[in-house]
Amino acid sequence: MQKKKLKTNPHIIKLQTIDFWYWSRYFIDIYPDCPYKCSYCNTQKKSSFNGLDFMEGLPINKEVIGLGLFSDIYHPEHRKNEFTKSMLELLAKNHYPVNIITKSDAIIDDLEILKNLSDRDHLRVTFTLLTMDEALSLKLEGCSPLPAERLNALKTLRKEGIPCGVAITPIIPCVNDDEESISHIVHESKKMGANWILFSGFNPVDSFLNNPLWKKTAEIHTDQKILKTQYRKIKKFILRLLIRENLPLRVPRITLKSFEHNYYSQIVSEYLFNISYLFELMDREIEMLRYRRAAYRINGIIESLKSIVHHKELGFLKGINPEIENVIEEIIFSNRSTLYTNLYKKIASEV
Ligand code: SF4
Repeated sequence: MQKKKLKTNPHIIKLQTIDFWYWSRYFIDIYPDCPYKCSYCNTQKKSSFNGLDFMEGLPINKEVIGLGLFSDIYHPEHRKNEFTKSMLELLAKNHYPVNIITKSDAIIDDLEILKNLSDRDHLRVTFTLLTMDEALSLKLEGCSPLPAERLNALKTLRKEGIPCGVAITPIIPCVNDDEESISHIVHESKKMGANWILFSGFNPVDSFLNNPLWKKTAEIHTDQKILKTQYRKIKKFILRLLIRENLPLRVPRITLKSFEHNYYSQIVSEYLFNISYLFELMDREIEMLRYRRAAYRINGIIESLKSIVHHKELGFLKGINPEIENVIEEIIFSNRSTLYTNLYKKIASEV
């Protein structure tokens, strides 16, 4: 029997495939225009994104709902209108897991409802933090709360046991990519209780590159070879830092319970995506693509993955070769991946 869709007012965006950073395919855009207007933002022109579907209601299945990917959910007027709070209450009441990305310390106003979500392991919160330098932050993202305010909010949430991390995104060449300032972010975040740090490169927007303030960044973007070398160096540096600090470099996925039907496809696709990410950091593009494709494939499976493996039918799935098949079997039956552990160790010893 077809269940009724929940009706909501805001924009609900469905991506073509799951976003493996925030483990969500559905994002709610509460404010179509982000109040923070960061100079490097590349999400404000949704027309430039491929594969976005706009939906009328929340998904019927209790999929993870991402909040804040396209525009921050904490508007400076938030305290007056309480709109975000109502949205969180609606999601919590209907048992949707939530993955929040924000730059705002106003999130602590919703502590009670966040605790409620977190108690059911239905919440991840990631604060975006590009720099600890207030002057630089004001130049880059002058309308948003200062770095220290974001970290204080993270500390408050962590004290309540809410899983939180930091996203150093984007890392912009010649702006926030020096080792000292990245180390500063990582150390301060860890001190405040961050559970993970993720990082990513810069998807440049013309308005940023055309601003004389960021002339050096524009220059380096004219030479893709130098740009790639610089990114490779900084990514390896961050990885070394995170390994030393014992901090995961990904947001841990909010998974279903083990008795639920899609449980194994979620666990396995998380591993496969993490493996592909390690290959990416090692510049092994073919393996990276192979494992990423498999991750998408497995994530999309609606039948029970354990049963498919049990009946030796994995090989029939397009994109799953015997090597990946072995990795999947190991994850399902031993809840670990030797390949993942070995790659991690290899990277740690190389860097
Ligand atoms: S907070 Fe995020 S979405 Fe908003 S302007 Fe800044 S980068 Fe864009």
